Order: sequence, then C-alpha cells, then structure tokens
Amino acid sequence: MISQMIGEVRVDRIVETQGPFAEASFLLPDFTPELIAQHRDWLVPRYYDDAQDRVIMSFHSLLLRTPRYNILVDTCVGNDKHRPARPGWHLQQSDWLSRLAVLQLAPEQIDYVFCTHLHADHVGWNTRLVDGRWVPTFPNARYLFARTEYEYWQQAIVSHRGEAPLNHGCFADSVLPVVEAGQVELIDNDYQFDESIRFSPAPGHTPGMVVVHVDSRGQRALLTGDVMHTPIQLACPVLSSRFCLDPQRSRQTRRALIEQCADSDVLLLPAHFPDPTAGYIRRRGDAFCYRDAAHL
Ligand SMILES: [Zn+2]
Repeated sequence: MISQMIGEVRVDRIVETQGPFAEASFLLPDFTPELIAQHRDWLVPRYYDDAQDRVIMSFHSLLLRTPRYNILVDTCVGNDKHRPARPGWHLQQSDWLSRLAVLQLAPEQIDYVFCTHLHADHVGWNTRLVDGRWVPTFPNARYLFARTEYEYWQQAIVSHRGEAPLNHGCFADSVLPVVEAGQVELIDNDYQFDESIRFSPAPGHTPGMVVVHVDSRGQRALLTGDVMHTPIQLACPVLSSRFCLDPQRSRQTRRALIEQCADSDVLLLPAHFPDPTAGYIRRRGDAFCYRDAAHL
C-alpha cells in the first residue's frame, strides 16, 4: 500500500506477513465454491488462490500520523510469542520493527496504540521479550482499548477451563504487561479521540470490537478491524468467519458497514486485506466488490 493522505492524516501500512492463509471453507464455514465462480474476475488471483483453495490475507498494522501524534492501529502477532496452536505464529520472528524504522519511526516515537479488539493477531507487538520478560514495545505510548472488550476477556479468562490457553494466551503476554506498566486507558466504544479521529462500536467478531474513523479536511477513511477478513465477504456479506464469537451479530455489523460505505468516498483500510489494502466498496448487482484506491 502506498501512503494515503486523508486530509492532514497520513496512513501507512506495516506488514508482518502476507500470503495464502486458511482454506476458504475453514475461514468462512458457510463458504461455497460457486461464490468464487460468480466473482472470479475480481477475486482471483489477488484475494483467492484457486489452486490451493486458500484465502490471501495480510497481517499488518496501520500507522496514522496526524499533525500531533503518531498512532499505531493493531499490532499483529509479534515476535517470540508462544502460539503452538497456530504453527505459523509460534515463536515467530518477523521484520516488523525494521519496517517501522523504514518509516523513520523508533518505538519511542509512538504516542498511541489502538487495538480494535484483543485477538492474538491484533495485540502482539504491544510487547516484546527483553531478558525473559514481556515489556511494552512502545515505552512512551498510551494504549487505548475499549472497556467492554477488555472486561470481556478479563472475565473469559477467569472462567476458561480448556487445556490450551484462551485466545492463544495473548492476554497474559501482550495485554496485561502494558496494563501493569500503567500505560492503558480504557475507553468507551463510542469515543472521539481528537478532531479528526473517532471510534465506533462494531460488535460481533468480538463483543467490544471498534472501528476507527478518520475525517480530516473533508476526506474520510475507515479502519475496519475484523468486520471483514477478506473481500470474499463483499461478494457474500452474510459469511462470518470461524473466529467470530457471535456470527449473527458480526453479520449485522458487516452488512450495516458495507451499506454505509458502498459507492461512497470512504476509503476502507481493513486489517487483513492484502496489498494494496486501501480501497472502496462498490455495488455489483445485488452484491458488492472492492476497488483499489488507485482505480477510483
Ligand atoms: Zn484479525
């Protein structure tokens, strides 16, 4: 993704990994191959690898630079995290930090970290391993989490009885250390951060997920978190992912967001759409499709 300017706010993408991820029928339990046949002209090969039946996904952070603040939105999987249930993430070593450096930013210069929700692929770089301890990666940042999201996971962990840790154990290694460092602010799901950035609720995938609106000098963008994981969900908005805790609610949230943005000038910046990531929703018959920002 090339840098996008939304009025005075510059947006860049910091990629951790990108490529063929899960099988479509695994990621989207109600997926049918006919869907690809109907939308092949724009879905294949960019968003769907036909030969392997894999959805092409990206795991990235979005960096917002306003005239006052450097803000990271979502922090991927992270390095050194113990994630045995997901071999691709387990003890991962990526160049994410050096990609931040390419954008002329040191961790000390990040003012805010927003996590749209607290899944393991959105909180990882909140912390890094130093001398065997998880410490905040961004020592001068305030980390903003939605209160309902934080309290949901706090409660869920107390009542969790499974053998494997809930949510890959990310609450313990990527959330609690920044809480204990005194760097977290819990916010309402409906929250005006400053004159150009606000949060709004997007429940379903997780109970307290938020999306982030940027509105500067008449230009608008929407960081949609995991309201959608792949543009296949524009071809068929009823498809919720395997990872949605409330698939029905997720469906309603997704449908409303798609209707609100379709054929508008709102630039979408989803958390898992592969390069070039930024784009616009366009109606296509009784469904929708995705158009790169460059093709507006
Ligand atoms: Zn995710």
